[in-house]
Amino acid sequence: MDWTEIFEMALNPIDLRSDTVTRPSEGMRRAMAQAEVGDDVYGDDPTTIELEARLAGLAAKEAGLFMPSGTQSNLVALMTHCQRGDEYIVGQDAHTYRYEAGGAATLGSIQPQPIENAPDGTIPLEKIRAAIKPDDIHFARTRLVTLENTIAGKVLAKSYLDEVGELAKATGLALHLDGARVFNAAVALGVPLGAVCTRFDSVSICLSKGLGAPIGSVLCGSHAFIAEARRWRKMAGGGMRQVGVLAAAGLYALEHNIERLAVDHDHAQQLATGLAAIEALKVRPAQTNMLFVEIPGADLLELGLHLREAGVLATLQPVTRLVTHLDIDRAGIDRALAAFKSFYRRSRSTSL
Ligand SMILES: *Cc1c(COP(=O)(O)O)cnc(C)c1O
Repeated sequence: MDWTEIFEMALNPIDLRSDTVTRPSEGMRRAMAQAEVGDDVYGDDPTTIELEARLAGLAAKEAGLFMPSGTQSNLVALMTHCQRGDEYIVGQDAHTYRYEAGGAATLGSIQPQPIENAPDGTIPLEKIRAAIKPDDIHFARTRLVTLENTIAGKVLAKSYLDEVGELAKATGLALHLDGARVFNAAVALGVPLGAVCTRFDSVSICLSKGLGAPIGSVLCGSHAFIAEARRWRKMAGGGMRQVGVLAAAGLYALEHNIERLAVDHDHAQQLATGLAAIEALKVRPAQTNMLFVEIPGADLLELGLHLREAGVLATLQPVTRLVTHLDIDRAGIDRALAAFKSFYRRSRSTSL
């Protein structure tokens, strides 16, 4: 390897840590630079208005609301659905429960009712039913069920969404979707986005994951829901001004980066197939742009160093998550596989 290659690798590693690591492309940066803007708190930023309407349309909802992050979008959704002392039913592994610093409880005074996720990422219907509290002064009021799709890269089946939708309707509960990666679910199923959002009263969608925007999420719901959410967003510090420069990145992403998610899914499968050929590793198959690999604990430290030397970034854990995205091409997948393979060739020959 010569110096230019080493330089290139240091500047452009194969970054499998997350799909949040993508950098805005030239085209996206141009769209941002040229965006028409206004003051969005006054409601007159035309690019933001266009993004909100466009994404709401795709999700088959009436209105949208642009937020700086998915965490804020989920928090605002929960605070719009629930009052102080209400409760939401949520998966134990869900981002809204586990990875948002307890915001719903701390800032929203909303009690979570976490339930163990099934291996396919669903919350079993009978467990949802059993967790709904009766109308009794002893209990928090159960108001909402929150699902996540995709969850750990897994796609929730349409039939399951229909069943939860029916249950929510029958029990008078609202239904929120943390759809940070819901476009991956729709592309994997080969259906329009609306088909996987239809049962939900509100859907939060990230632009900064596989879609490749630098920032932003959009919360979608009815006109009345979004009007109320706008107030909570302001309270949470999410009222933004000439934010059309960021919304333009989102619009560019919707235009250019949806169908190509299928490429990320293919890459994840290629990575999974290649890694499965290494005897020491146990690979859980990829449904979308994410796979999980069980790595022997004794290898973690050295393998991590080896990968880094080879220009491959991954957060190594006993169960390591690898994520593909639009800044990794086929050659990058091959390079990542070669790095894993050379490590195991080497470690086998030294241990013999
Ligand atoms: C990334 C993510 C979010 C929101 O994350 P932010 O970093 O706050 O934008 C929410 N839910 C899921 C499932 C996510 O992956």
